[in-house]
Amino acid sequence: MRCLYCDKEIEKLSLLNLLEDDLLCLKCRKALNGRLRRFKYENIYVYYLYEYDDMFKSILLQYKEVMDEALKEVFIYPYGSLFKILFKRYEALYVPSSKLKMEKRNFLAMEEIMKLYGAKKYADVLMRQELIQAGKSLKERRKMRDNYYLKRDVKADDYIMIIDDVFTSGSSISGMIEAIKGETKHLIVFVLAVVK
Ligand SMILES: [Zn+2]
Repeated sequence: MRCLYCDKEIEKLSLLNLLEDDLLCLKCRKALNGRLRRFKYENIYVYYLYEYDDMFKSILLQYKEVMDEALKEVFIYPYGSLFKILFKRYEALYVPSSKLKMEKRNFLAMEEIMKLYGAKKYADVLMRQELIQAGKSLKERRKMRDNYYLKRDVKADDYIMIIDDVFTSGSSISGMIEAIKGETKHLIVFVLAVVK
């Protein structure tokens, strides 16, 4: 079997490796430097696995833009069991993409990944207007916050996990946090990578 990233033959070094079925070779897996960690943003824990470096960026791009669906297994794979235990009670709320981006994509990238770990979808999120995220002023970002519309009433004991691929402050995630953090105590964010 060949590594999905570098295309080199995956070496099976030990019995342990024989039992595993990582789609990346050991070298690429090591270079990705994944680890489940968290920080607080607006008093909400943001969990993530990778730093948004060149390697992560190119794998994510290959998955999303080239629509290489086999890659969906690569991102959470080593942390799959841990992930299932830690986030068992949470339901997934996916940050919507702008229509512009969606036209280029025929599958919902994060939903496809999360489904592998049994994540249930909490509710659909609609955007009232299509706004492009980058380089907006504070006032325009406020407008984005009001732009989200959840197709469900949030209850105080709902466990909600906001999901996106990459976290940058001032991104659409902060709008989503603002929109629901007063509604439930059980709100966390999970992203694959964080821009440092
Ligand atoms: Zn490789």
